[in-house]
Amino acid sequence: MISLKNIHKYYDIGHNKLHVLKGINLEIEEGEMVAIMGSSGSGKSTLLNILGILDYADEGEYLLDGVKIEKDLSESKAADYRNKFLGFVFQSFNLISFKNAMENVALPLYYQKVKRSQRNSRAMEYLERVGLDDRADHMPNELSGGQKQRVAIARALVTHPKVILADEPTGALDSQTTYDVIKFLQKINNEGKTILIVTHEPEVAKQCKRVVHLKDGIIERDEFINQEVLV
Ligand code: ADP
Ligand code: MG
Repeated sequence: MISLKNIHKYYDIGHNKLHVLKGINLEIEEGEMVAIMGSSGSGKSTLLNILGILDYADEGEYLLDGVKIEKDLSESKAADYRNKFLGFVFQSFNLISFKNAMENVALPLYYQKVKRSQRNSRAMEYLERVGLDDRADHMPNELSGGQKQRVAIARALVTHPKVILADEPTGALDSQTTYDVIKFLQKINNEGKTILIVTHEPEVAKQCKRVVHLKDGIIERDEFINQEVLV
């Protein structure tokens, strides 16, 4: 599903270049649930942004479901690939504050030019899946942190993406809510969805099937673990 070969990324800082990713090689199969672990500044978000076609590598090759992601992709083509392949979940939820839960979930379908009646029924279906169909007309500020993240996950799933990319999805949640969110991600992974979770929390990483340890822009360790399936 994902193939990275010798990925390098530099940031320009003044007259210098900061070498952030230093030759990343990574193969992820369909249906895997992978944690990308590492301390702050190790390059986790940079890597996830490249995977999410929100940014580009300076060197190396990225194949997403067999499609070569080129550095000089037009913004409209990049948006097409994101719409077609990817669902995003962020630490800060990134819900639209003036739209209710259902409208937030329906939004990616609008960009896919799905008809309004279908958008709303599919959004409701996914709100139901995350257990929030009774909150459909609530605004984000009327929801708890865990509920907001479940709305964000419903929004990420509504377009049937092949891969879910989550950057510190539980970073703003307490431990019980973290548990609920990870349990839900495990459930959709068990239904076959490929999931990548960036985290610095060992408790979250050990709920994944595989943990990729990033240190100073290099994969230091890549381990397959006996996933602790939450019940
Ligand atoms: P992590 O998510 O693991 O905390 P990041 O990928 O966000 O790490 O950042 C890796 C390094 O790159 C850090 O030193 C950070 O300060 C730097 N960095 C991140 N984004 C930029 C940017 N847009 N411009 C310059 N430096 C950046
Ligand atoms: Mg980060």
